[in-house]
Parts: sequence; C-alpha cells; structure tokens
Amino acid sequence: MKAEVISVGTELLLGQIVNTDAQIISDILAPLGIDMYYHTTVGDNENRLGEVFECALNRSDLVFTTGGLGPTMDDVTKETVAKKLSLKLKLNQKELENIEKIFERSGRSMPPGNVKQALFPQESQVIPNKNGTAPGAIVEKEGTIVVILPGPPRELQPMMIETIVPFLQEKTAGRKSVIKSRVLKLCGIGESAAEEAIKDLILDQTNPTIAPLAGSEVTFRITAKASSEQSAQRLIKTLEDKVRERLFDHVYGCDEDTLESVIGAYLKKRKMSLVTAESCTGGIIASRITSIPGSSSYFDRGYVCYSNQSKKELLGVSEEILSEHGAVSKETALAMAQGARESNGAQIALSVTGIAGPSGGTEDKPVGLIWFGLSTPDNEETISRIYGGNRMRIRSRAAQFALQMLWDYLRRKDAL
Ligand code: ATP
Repeated sequence: MKAEVISVGTELLLGQIVNTDAQIISDILAPLGIDMYYHTTVGDNENRLGEVFECALNRSDLVFTTGGLGPTMDDVTKETVAKKLSLKLKLNQKELENIEKIFERSGRSMPPGNVKQALFPQESQVIPNKNGTAPGAIVEKEGTIVVILPGPPRELQPMMIETIVPFLQEKTAGRKSVIKSRVLKLCGIGESAAEEAIKDLILDQTNPTIAPLAGSEVTFRITAKASSEQSAQRLIKTLEDKVRERLFDHVYGCDEDTLESVIGAYLKKRKMSLVTAESCTGGIIASRITSIPGSSSYFDRGYVCYSNQSKKELLGVSEEILSEHGAVSKETALAMAQGARESNGAQIALSVTGIAGPSGGTEDKPVGLIWFGLSTPDNEETISRIYGGNRMRIRSRAAQFALQMLWDYLRRKDAL
C-alpha cells in the first residue's frame, strides 16, 4: 500500500512550526508495512491544496491530510477533499452535539462557525477527537482511502493510534509486512569519508536500504521490509554487520545510544571510574555524563577549573607548566588529567582546556584551539583540535570530541 501525507497550513510553509504530524504518521505506519512515498506541505489555499490532493489521488492508495479542519474561512481541507472526490458535505448531527457539549463544558456557547466542524464528506467514517473540537474522517472512494486529521499533534496522535491503526490493520490483513529501521551512530569520521567506505552498499540497495541521515552526528539508517519483524531484523543485521566490519572503529552505537550512554555502560560493566577536569567546556562533559541514570556508580566528580589559580589549587597543575606553556597547551591538558585522577583515585581522567572565543586568540593559539588530555594507570594521551564557529559551538564540539576520545580509548582497551 502506497501512502502519502499532505500537511495543510501556511504556518508550516512560513517555518513557524515544524511538521510533527507527518513524522508521527510515518512513524506509526512503518511497522504496519505501509510504504510512505511523499510528504507534501501546502498552505491554507483551496486551489493549491486541490492540485496537491488531485496529484496524491493519482499516485497513492492512502492519502492523509493534516490540519485545516478549524471553524474559520481559511480551513478548507474537508471542502477541498469533498470537491475533488465529487462528494457533498453532510452535517453529522451527533458530532455537532458533541462539539456543542465541549463548548458547554467550558461555559461558552458554540460560535456558529463551529458548525463547519461537524460537516463531513458523504459516506465518510467520522474519527472522534477526544482532545479537541475537530473530528477527523476516513473517506473511501474507488480504491483510495483518504484520512482527514486535525493539525494539533496531541489530537492527531491518539486518533492515529486508537482509530486509524486498527482500521489499517484490518485493511492490510493478509498482505502483512513490516518495515523496521535501525540507525547506526558513528564518531571520529566525517560524513563523506564514512559514505565513501560503504559507497557500494549505498549504491547497491533494494531491501534493506541504507542512507545517511542529516544531523549533528554521522549516522546511517538501515531500513528493511519483510513479512515478519524477525525477518526484517535479520535483513538489517546482515547489512549492519557489513557496515560495522568496515567502520568498526567508528560505529559507537545505534538507535537511542549516545556517546555518554555507551561510555557509561562500558564503565559500569568494567567497574571503572571516571573524573573530568574541564576548563573551556565549563562542565558540559560532566553534565552529559551525569544525564545518564545510574552514572553515580562510575562518575565521582567533575572539576570545572576555569582560572589558572583553580587549576593549581584543585588539580595541582604547576606554576611552571602554566607560565612556560600556558593554560591552553598539551602540558596543561595532561597535568589537569593527571591531577584530577590523583585527586580521587579514579581509573580514568579526561581533561579539556581551550580558547572558546570570541576573544583571547593569538597567532600561535587561535580561537577554537582545544587541548584534550586522558590519563589512566596504563596510558596517557593528549591531542589538539581547532574548531570554527561561535563560542557555544566550539564548546559543544569540544565536549563531543572529549567523549569520542574517551570512547575510542575504551574501545581500544576492550580490543586488547
Ligand atoms: P483544530 O481546529 O483542532 O485546531 P485544525 O485541523 O484546524 O485543528 P490547524 O488550524 O491547521 O488545525 O492547526 C492548528 C494548530 O495545530 C497549529 O497552530 C499548530 O500548532 C498545529 N499544527 C497544525 N499542523 C501541524 C503539523 N503538520 N505539525 C505540527 N503541528 C501542526
């Protein structure tokens, strides 16, 4: 079954709201094995909606519309759908009474404009809306199913789950298939290098498919369609194994995993403890580490040592190191990590010191220069990076890199 979503709303086109509805619908349809081919957004304009809807009728078996069911003149979805399907709009007395009751309950009388919300294309099945005044509808005509839903996601989502899913399950019974996806998350490699490494897999794909996802991290989504969840998972696993084999030193997790959750699970399992010493990131790393429930079992403390004085007092960084090499240097990063580790006997200490800008840069040490340090009983590492962007971006990229450095160390340690 081929599906598409038409989201109606000028607010969406103006970028004032994001199209959560299309995402909700796609997410709910995938496990039902229904192929989603198009998401279209159109403003509150009868002609343009009419054009888009006509096009959808010609190419899809299942067409969703979202929004445009309100009481005002610019809410034209049902009118347009009815016109294009050559159906009349009919008043549904029961729904009219329901809408009147909703107004009564809030101590108001129903404005005449709201009668419009009880009009539905002939022979349509009304979808009750427990969370708002605009009910939806299912219209079936000449083999095409049109599902009309209100705009607010908190209204649309329960209607999808309570009414549309059972309806579609019945419709698709006998031609059961499921669509499953897994998102692989990578670090320490750029998007193009990662794509290059699996270019042949990306080009040669039918089922499962693999595609990069846009976002702040490098990720690949693998999607498989099969007759059962197990076979879809098997298909995904085969392709996932190939990707992991080629990019094993970069794939850190999948789906809901984050660097901090993967690191946390590792530390917990190996009963290892971590301490952080942060200067320019001001606690972002500690905050990410402690965002994971149960992190107290491996994270004892995080130092935020912004001034030279605090680096000396709390981390034991020597005056010589600071005056000879400066606060942003390989030597200071290492001394910070060593000092942090010695302060509480943790097995691993991670440190960051850098220039987040916008001022404070020099020719030798430009804005964006960050030094990272890692100290463990069997290993000491330092590395520097230079990041562009504003202060916040530099700080968050530095925190991300520090976590990557830690993950990479743990991965290598595990491989030994
Ligand atoms: P109601 O009459 O129940 O408000 P409606 O169908 O008339 O529903 P719209 O007037 O189109 O809905 O939109 C109402 C609100 O719903 C919008 O202001 C917006 O907050 C939200 N909304 C509409 N469409 C979307 C969408 N595609 N994704 C996320 N939110 C949406």
